[in-house]
Amino acid sequence: MQSVSFEGYELEVDYDKTINYYKNLPFIGEKEHCDCSYCKNYVLTTNTFPMIVKDLLQEIGVNPKKGAEVSHFYEEENGKHMYVADYRLYGKLLKSPISKTSKIYYVSNNDYFQIGFESVNIYENTSEKIGFWIEAFLPWIVDLDSE
Ligand SMILES: [Zn+2]
Repeated sequence: MQSVSFEGYELEVDYDKTINYYKNLPFIGEKEHCDCSYCKNYVLTTNTFPMIVKDLLQEIGVNPKKGAEVSHFYEEENGKHMYVADYRLYGKLLKSPISKTSKIYYVSNNDYFQIGFESVNIYENTSEKIGFWIEAFLPWIVDLDSE
């Protein structure tokens, strides 16, 4: 177990188990995951994530290009697309900030990036899982015509 703290969150992460879990998953946007254009775009936007988020994902063993349940909500007038992506990792969530969310940046109501962790254990004595989510307005980068 590896201790991770981030903006009021404190976790114990089972890094090896998480890494192994992601190793075997298909990439977001592939047929085995979901190959809709929203997912294909999302996987590309992971390259544009703020460095602090990329570093955090690396620290907890989560591959941002795999495994997430991706929800696309709508396109804003500024051209950005609101997404929520839910990831899983192995470990224990020890502490959360009161806000239950961490704002990575906030420009306006239709341009922000926030993340959070939550416990997703349904039963006791099962292997501990943590949910990690991203809620953000992301650019549209995928060029579907060139395929
Ligand atoms: Zn999809």
